[in-house]
Formats: sequence, C-alpha cells, structure tokens
Amino acid sequence: MRPETMCIQAGYEPKNGSPRALPIYQSTTFTFDSTEHVGALFDLTAGDAFYTRLGNPTTDCVEKKIAALEGGVGALCTSSGQAASMLAVMNIAEAGDHIIAASAIYGGTFNLLGVTLKKFGVDVTFVDGDAPLEQLQKEIRPNTKAVFGETIANPALHVLDIEKFAALAHNNGIPLIVDNTFATPILCRPFAFGADIIVHSTTKYMDGHAVQMGGVIVDSGKFDWGASGKFPGLTEPDESYHGLRYTESFGAAAYITKARVQLMRDMGTCQTPMGAFLLDLGLQTLPLRIRQHSSNALKVAQFLEQHPDVEF
Ligand SMILES: *Cc1c(COP(=O)(O)O)cnc(C)c1O
Repeated sequence: MRPETMCIQAGYEPKNGSPRALPIYQSTTFTFDSTEHVGALFDLTAGDAFYTRLGNPTTDCVEKKIAALEGGVGALCTSSGQAASMLAVMNIAEAGDHIIAASAIYGGTFNLLGVTLKKFGVDVTFVDGDAPLEQLQKEIRPNTKAVFGETIANPALHVLDIEKFAALAHNNGIPLIVDNTFATPILCRPFAFGADIIVHSTTKYMDGHAVQMGGVIVDSGKFDWGASGKFPGLTEPDESYHGLRYTESFGAAAYITKARVQLMRDMGTCQTPMGAFLLDLGLQTLPLRIRQHSSNALKVAQFLEQHPDVEF
C-alpha cells in the first residue's frame, strides 16, 4: 500500500457485513464472560480492549493506521501533542537524567522540556541544530537518555538534519525522538533517516479540520534498549506489573507497550473514541491536503523570491 492508500485503508479491516466506516466504540469498558479472561487482560497476555484509558477499538484502528504510515511497529494516541511529547520523554528519562534538544522546536515543547520536566528532575540542554556533530557530542553526559528535534520546526521552519541527530544519538547508545507534526509522513518519514521514536501533534495537519486535539507516539521498533544498559525501565522488572520486563515480553514493541500500560495507565492522557474517529476522518484526506499546502507554499516562496524587498 502507498501512503495515499494507507490513509484510507490501513488500520480498520472490516469483515463481511461489518460497517464500512470505522465505528465509534463510545464505551469506557468492555464485557467479558470469565474472570480468567479479565485476569489475562490485566496480565497483558490477552490483547483485547478492556478500559478505554488503556485501549479502545476505534483508537486502536487509528493507531495502526498511523504506525503503518510512519513505518513503525506500534503507536499510542494521546489527548494532545503535548501529552505525546511528555510521555515519549518520560518513558525513558526520569529524575537525575538529561536530554538534548534542538533549540528550534515548538514553544510548548521548549517549555515542557526546559521548565516543567526540569522541575521533575530531567535536565535539558538546548543545542543549535546546525552545529557540527563534534560540537554536539560535547553536550552528551553519562546520564543523557535521548536526543529530541523537530523535522520542520514550528514556527521557525528550521529543517532538522535527522541523520546527523540520529548519529549523535546512536554513537552514544540513546534514541532520537523526532516531532514530525509539520512534515507528516506524507512529506517525510523520519524512521528512514534514523529516528527511533516519532511524536505528532495530530491537532494540526493530521486532523486538518481544527476540530480535535490529539497527539500520537510511534515506535520504530528498531532501537536496542538492552545494548547500553541505560534503560533499566525497559529491561529490568517493572514492580507495578509484578516483575514484567518490557524488552523480554514485548520485544520490538517494548517502548510503545511501556508507554501505554505504565505511563498512560498512570498519567491518563488518553485520546477519546470520538476524537480518534475524527482524526481518522482527517487522515483520509491528508495526502490531498498536503499536496495543496505544498503547492500554495511554493507559490508564496516564488512570489517572495521575486519581491524587491526580500533578501536571501
Ligand atoms: C502544536 C504542536 C505541538 C503541541 O501539540 P498540541 O496538540 O497543541 O498539544 C507539538 N509540536 C508541534 C510541532 C506542534 O505544532
């Protein structure tokens, strides 16, 4: 499937006689015939939805669609883009840790990392995205857990050298998190350039109609969480899940599973079924809208290029 097809078909696969449109499962809870089944759900050995904070069939389809579009192993929808960035970082960094972020990022993310997560004990260094790799390397500390940047920064429009930032991260055994809100997977798929985790504010182009707040985290499934010994949260037993180890139990989907069953469970910043439905509706026309946005932007750029008051 090409991206245009995925935007329509991926995620929801109706069986014979099922509704053609993605149904809205407007239900907080789900029913089961046996306590054994519910026990298996709590133990994460059965995959059905049982409580909408942790998963919902409507939201699940949209997560699968976005994971397919980005080429990831799994995705987690959140209540907003801010929630996606917060969970993406907190899933691997805790008090005493440090992260590196490009300075040209969305103002809300700048505050989240520079003010609020700092209060939670996660330190951040903002770096010039154009700095050479050797200079960026000097900012790495033994407790640095992630590198963060935006494909096309909002609002500065600085374009991230994803390969350079991926090299910085991977040379130090840590992942690169990329906010791909502005490019969308129609214009850029950051996993192809070495990103490990992608976040989006789906509030922007993905929704496209200014009707629904939302965010999403996508996991490439390619990062080796065990190699550096820096991510005990993923490789060591989780006491809140009676000793489960995410890398052992979920393999390539360890990161996105932890984000869902541990952080979403505890923080509760979930997307709603109705919100997921509206997002899915928006995604269906994403390629058409992005094509038009790009052609509009080119016209503006060509106008400015000719304008006597504009210098390059
Ligand atoms: C809007 C935006 C966010 C925050 O998303 P919300 O859905 O408003 O919480 C994060 N990153 C980028 C690039 C954005 O444009």
